[in-house]
Amino acid sequence: MSIKYRMIYDENLCIGCQACSIACRSENNIPANFFRLQVRIETKGIFPNLKNDFIRNSCVMCENPPCVTVCPTGASYQMSNGLTFIDAIKCISCNYCVIACPYDARYVNPITKSIDKCTFCFSNRVSKNLSPACVTVCPTDALVFGDIDDMDSNVYKKSKEHFTLAPKKYLGTNPKLVFIPSKKSIL
Ligand code: SF4
Ligand code: SF4
Repeated sequence: MSIKYRMIYDENLCIGCQACSIACRSENNIPANFFRLQVRIETKGIFPNLKNDFIRNSCVMCENPPCVTVCPTGASYQMSNGLTFIDAIKCISCNYCVIACPYDARYVNPITKSIDKCTFCFSNRVSKNLSPACVTVCPTDALVFGDIDDMDSNVYKKSKEHFTLAPKKYLGTNPKLVFIPSKKSIL
């Protein structure tokens, strides 16, 4: 039976240090000025009552992925474990998937000319029983990853202890990357 991968991003634990995005760049050889993963700062409120929220932006691994549906060549595909990938050889860079992705998660790699995005580090790490690079380096454990059906896993325990939200749930994409919304009020 296939592992049901899930990642949880806890906005309350994130300190915006960018260790995750730097580790991602290094692990996946991302060209300068392009990203598979970013942590954005969103400042809310009225001065002096301001708060900073940190928002992770990356592929959320949709169970119902629009990027796969629109791809005319099969380059964007979904494996039996539900994760989505890109076959760079089949990709003709038509950009349909970039436009179809509601999470702004894809970009054209200027070196390979093919589309690229987060893979949860599946082939380079997860398939070797390692965690994704971003999860490994997070100093506050704001990111947890694993098999949501494994009752001993951190991701299972965290999902039971906290209320989680799927980004843009109304779209019905059913992401595997969910988040614990920020409760911070004042900086
Ligand atoms: Fe595809 Fe975007 Fe969903 Fe990732 S977040 S699976 S790139 S539609
Ligand atoms: Fe937030 Fe952890 Fe990423 Fe730092 S490494 S920005 S704390 S998620």
